[in-house]
Amino acid sequence: MARVLFLGGLGRSGTTLVERLLGELPGVCALGEVVHLWQRDLRDDERCGCGSRFSACVFWRRVGALAFGGWHNVDVDRVRHLRAVVERTRHIPRLATAVEAPDEVHEYADYYTRVYAAAAEVSGARMVVDSSKHSALAHVLRWSAGLDLRVVHVVRDARGVAYSWTKTVDRPETDGAEQMTRYSPGRAALLWNAHNAAFGLLARRGVAVRRIRYEEFLIDPRAAVARLADFAGVAVTPADLDFLHPGHADLTTGHSAAGNPMRFTVGRLPLRRDDAWVSALPRGQRRLVGAVCAPMLRAYGYPLIPAQAQEA
Ligand SMILES: [Zn+2]
Repeated sequence: MARVLFLGGLGRSGTTLVERLLGELPGVCALGEVVHLWQRDLRDDERCGCGSRFSACVFWRRVGALAFGGWHNVDVDRVRHLRAVVERTRHIPRLATAVEAPDEVHEYADYYTRVYAAAAEVSGARMVVDSSKHSALAHVLRWSAGLDLRVVHVVRDARGVAYSWTKTVDRPETDGAEQMTRYSPGRAALLWNAHNAAFGLLARRGVAVRRIRYEEFLIDPRAAVARLADFAGVAVTPADLDFLHPGHADLTTGHSAAGNPMRFTVGRLPLRRDDAWVSALPRGQRRLVGAVCAPMLRAYGYPLIPAQAQEA
């Protein structure tokens, strides 16, 4: 049975950082955001985290061969159709309460399960990490019988998340042709509520969900990574964590299929909390996001007054 650690949460919450650190552990293989593999890699042949085009990456070629007898056997239009039909945030209540899921849900989940199992075998890893983030996908994967699914729900202060969504960020894998999606703070606030609530719902459905706060994770990354490894059932020794130093991590090359530009970082990665929003997010927007997200900010232990948020 394939064991996958699914990193969930709204984008810009620090999931890529968490994934990169977990990917350095022995017995763990980090795959990036597999949700985008079908379009960005199979169709558009974007770059793997190792720098190669997807079609030229030996790791992914072997995964495709093992999972599907070669990627050419995957009907990308079919996967995209399934994604459009089943992987929708508005379907989460139905996916969460259904006694049996429609065939399309099983079919869609099976594509991921095959990728995870093949990646584990090719890499020799005991556990693979998928940082797809999307709550609807996590609810779909719950229905896969061949999967040992564990979910890490990464939460970050909604105001920091909203500020990050306003920024212009290039997508290096498109060689400057495209930028990452942007959302207004009001839109980001609504998405923050919806996605975080969806992971709470997943936990209530009996899925193993561990919630972590981005800000807390960065206070002591060594201890935080060790706790996540324990949650994932991966044994680590203190020496396995020696890539983590005070203030930075030393990263090796990974084979992330898609995701935040940090997936290309090799070598020194600063481990510093990004609190730019405290001074850079305009007061009106800060208050708007704080008001829209107040109940869940409180539930997660975030102070509503920004001055205190800096200390959180
Ligand atoms: Zn690669």
